[in-house]
Amino acid sequence: MARLMLEDEADFVVVGTGAGGATAARVLAGAGHSLIMLEEGPLLKTAERPKELIHAMRRAMRDFGTFTTRGMHPFPLLQGRCVGGSTAINSGIIWRTPEDVRRDWIDNYGLEELVEEKGLDRAFDIIEDELGVVETAEEISGNNALRMKMAAQKLGLPGKAMARNAKDCEGRGECLQGCPGEARQSMDVSYIPRAMRDGARLHTLCRAMKVRIENGRAVGVEGLVLDRDTRKPVGKFFVRARRGVIIAASVVWTPVILRRSGLRGLVGERLQLHPGSAVVGRFPEPISMGTGATQAYEIPMRERGFKIESLTLPPEMLATRLPGAGPAWQKLLTDLDHYAQWASIVRMKAHGTVRPAFASHDADVRFTPLDRDLKVMREALATIAKLMFAAGATEVYPGIARIPQVLTDPSQVRLIEELDLTTADIHMMCSHLFGTAVAGRDAATSVVGPDLQAHDVRDLYVMDASVFPTNMGVNPQHTIMALVWRAAERLAERARAAA
Ligand SMILES: Cc1cc2nc3c(=O)[nH]c(=O)nc-3n(C[C@H](O)[C@H](O)[C@H](O)COP(=O)(O)OP(=O)(O)OC[C@H]3O[C@@H](n4cnc5c(N)ncnc54)[C@H](O)[C@@H]3O)c2cc1C
Repeated sequence: MARLMLEDEADFVVVGTGAGGATAARVLAGAGHSLIMLEEGPLLKTAERPKELIHAMRRAMRDFGTFTTRGMHPFPLLQGRCVGGSTAINSGIIWRTPEDVRRDWIDNYGLEELVEEKGLDRAFDIIEDELGVVETAEEISGNNALRMKMAAQKLGLPGKAMARNAKDCEGRGECLQGCPGEARQSMDVSYIPRAMRDGARLHTLCRAMKVRIENGRAVGVEGLVLDRDTRKPVGKFFVRARRGVIIAASVVWTPVILRRSGLRGLVGERLQLHPGSAVVGRFPEPISMGTGATQAYEIPMRERGFKIESLTLPPEMLATRLPGAGPAWQKLLTDLDHYAQWASIVRMKAHGTVRPAFASHDADVRFTPLDRDLKVMREALATIAKLMFAAGATEVYPGIARIPQVLTDPSQVRLIEELDLTTADIHMMCSHLFGTAVAGRDAATSVVGPDLQAHDVRDLYVMDASVFPTNMGVNPQHTIMALVWRAAERLAERARAAA
């Protein structure tokens, strides 16, 4: 039996330091409550984060970026596992909640008090101000993005410069490795230090296993202390919460913790995703992908169910996207400076599930896209291929099995449009996850109420993307932060009134 290595106590205990957990900590500590943050990953100081992709991924990402769904055609679910969670590796793209999503959550899930327009806008305003949200300037966008802009204008598609929480971005294209100048205001450099200045304590390398529940009330969190190098358990911890436990371990790990704690019903159901894929184009002139913001330009096509984004890759990852083998592939490598890459993000309608894996600490995630979802993916990839040719690409690499690996003429885009695309044909990955502990007024169809408190357990809150009743068709971090901001503010007031 592992020994108890850590015991602590505070008003609130927050599990997870990503977009949700860090915002909860920022608001509750800012309101004067004592608070402990528990994070499974390490604290990575920006200056010490490795620049080489392989080391960067190993340090900051869950399972080195190889954590996947299970089933016939598994695909990676990218998540951060370090202080700051996925925000510490993300591109800082900011989108307010689309109006149709907000209306749907009010009309069909009874979430008026959470997403009522004025209150939500106020939260967005504060967050945008605190995290320095601005539109990406052309000077730091880089050719990868500017080529997309040119193509969008040619084809009459609704492109725009991305808004990001990176006011002082210098366009170094290293979001994944940790923004070198700390311009991107990920949670590890913004809300976590701020909460700590307000008195919050942070325990890293602490994997929460379950919530301790006594007489129907959450009273603390139990878990394992991990070794810094091997990430293997070396001891146990128990952290007591006087006023509330907040689980914000992400869409995958929140339901695992809740189920291990005995909660059932819809916990782990209604997983929704925005899977993506990408197309590469080769240009006669240098694109110099390494120069410019990681992501800077986007074409939102929500009415069609997808979004297109410019996406810079480090050279070693870009190389894996080039077709062929042997000398032919090596020849393509010599032109590494001449490629652009743009990605699709699809708002899929399929629902999946998350469960604790049998006899391990892992999670069992199941998600199978619907035929309709794959048709939308196909349209998105065909649109990118058209954009590439419109931007002047001489070769387009769609990365789709069962069609040529190299397209050299715009007329060949119809090969994508006519393909009966399956999940086995493409490389899919996903970094936008939603649902699994959804919020709603009705306890029969949701896990937490509009105050984000569990219907079944008092003083147990979920404050991350798990509470989203649906996916959105836009990047999620801003909506996560704003929802959590509102719920945490109310929780802080109730706790103050009860004191
Ligand atoms: C590569 C990448 C790029 C992205 N780009 C953007 C973007 O530009 N804009 C945007 O809006 N969104 C983007 N996203 C998505 C966005 O970052 C996430 O939607 C958001 O961070 C999710 O917030 P969260 O709080 O739900 O989870 P996370 O931010 O993932 O945080 C969860 C935290 O909980 C910790 N944790 C998990 N299990 C445990 C446990 N048992 N005990 C203790 N701690 C635990 C994890 O280590 C992690 O730190 C991107 C994501 C990725 C991976």
